[in-house]
Amino acid sequence: MTPLKICYVSSEVVPFAKTGGLADVAGALPVALKEMEQDVRVMMANYKSINERKFVLREVIRLKEVKVTLDAETKIVDGKTAFLPNSKVHVYFLHIPDYFDRKELYVDPATGKDFKDNAERFAFFSKATLETLKLLYWQPDIIHCNEWQTALIPFYLKTLYKDDEFFKNTKTVLTLHNLAYQGIFPLEKAKKIEIPKEYIKTGAEFEFYGKLNLLKGGILFADVLNTVSEKYAEEITSDPEFGFGFEKILASRKKDLVGILNGVDYENWSPETDNLIPQKYSWNKLEAKIQNKKVLCKQNNLEFKEDVPVIGIISRLADQKGFDLIEEVATELMEMDLQIIILGTGDTKYHKFFEKLAKKYPQKVAINLRFDNKMAHLIEAGADIFLMPSRFEPCGLNQMYSLKYGTVPVVRETGGLADTILDYNAKTGEGTGFTFKKYQAKEMLKAITRAVKTFSNKKIWNDIQKTGMKKDFSWTKSAEKYMSLYEKVMGK
Ligand code: ADP
Repeated sequence: MTPLKICYVSSEVVPFAKTGGLADVAGALPVALKEMEQDVRVMMANYKSINERKFVLREVIRLKEVKVTLDAETKIVDGKTAFLPNSKVHVYFLHIPDYFDRKELYVDPATGKDFKDNAERFAFFSKATLETLKLLYWQPDIIHCNEWQTALIPFYLKTLYKDDEFFKNTKTVLTLHNLAYQGIFPLEKAKKIEIPKEYIKTGAEFEFYGKLNLLKGGILFADVLNTVSEKYAEEITSDPEFGFGFEKILASRKKDLVGILNGVDYENWSPETDNLIPQKYSWNKLEAKIQNKKVLCKQNNLEFKEDVPVIGIISRLADQKGFDLIEEVATELMEMDLQIIILGTGDTKYHKFFEKLAKKYPQKVAINLRFDNKMAHLIEAGADIFLMPSRFEPCGLNQMYSLKYGTVPVVRETGGLADTILDYNAKTGEGTGFTFKKYQAKEMLKAITRAVKTFSNKKIWNDIQKTGMKKDFSWTKSAEKYMSLYEKVMGK
């Protein structure tokens, strides 16, 4: 079969720029597709934070000083390229100085709020992506878009480029990684990003409760859609709590919507080969894991206690992630014999909560309120338990990393957490973690209590760890499912 030409477009890609799981996916899925002999290229914005020297970005003559016009405004775009690490996957970095020469990706550090021109920034990037493809003379079969940031591409193809021979055979896929982020802006922005009036009338494709909603338009214009776990696909089409107002729109596209679980990039996330952790280990050399716990405790100013479980948390500090449950039962938690190490940034209210908790219980709680990849790896390797009590979780990656590192997950049964973690059953000995169903603090506390109790039985604990470490969530299976999706849309 001739390889498919797949253009994967994402606002963040590991290792170049990352705020969350999308970046991990964008850095790994294209490599898995390339290994399946597909012709895949990645497009992203060239942010100021990207270290061009370290990643050896090279100029592309054809992409020098490209003029791109959106509405009446013309800007100069420069395209550079590099490979995704250990692969032959080309990544194109589009440099639009006015929009991307900023410290952060989406949030203005001065205000703590989203940049006011995020709509223009990513609309411009989307249009520049299409122009770049033309200049490269590389006609994709599929443009694979992700999240609201690139959700305008299907619309532009069906409007601005509808008579363009170049894109005549190009189909679009839009992956929904998290419906909580929809790209909502004032309706007045529509003109600036070339969405004509008829599309923002009440009830029209881009209108949503009197606002401009880019993800809604993306969902309606993309040829096919997917989300990042089977359970989440089911939840968002049936339950208003998960659908964020999109249940009906998604239900109308149900036959074009599938759930495909994200994979894990085991090149980056395996205790056998992880160069970011002090002591490598594997399921048959599990004793060595304790060395990482020692270093983890030391770096976090906690006393190392072999028999007291360390609970790790690595997360964006957002409402989605279940921190209100922790807040509700903080006193009860602190009465238990355990230690907690948190790594995360986000909402000020959670920063304050964890700061207060660590101040009150310095022997039990350590905080790292920042983004720190090395510490994330150390927590995965050194902690005994990993806590992820999410209110909703489209896929979640850390629980899968935790399985691989023998760090037993305690999770709420929702979305991808429900699809990847099986509750431990003391009778049968089956299970890879401890789960709870209802979004209630007491339920979470029960699951943590069960985990802590089980931790004291070393034999049983080791069995649970090993079962988890042997699970395989590599990209191969998921990439095959993406291939089926691409083939389905090509046949449309
Ligand atoms: P989400 O995409 O909702 O943030 P995921 O679990 O899918 O959640 O992915 C989060 C990714 O971001 C993981 O790779 C996790 O290790 C990483 N991460 C989150 N917060 C931090 C942080 N403060 N420092 C380092 N890595 C982080």
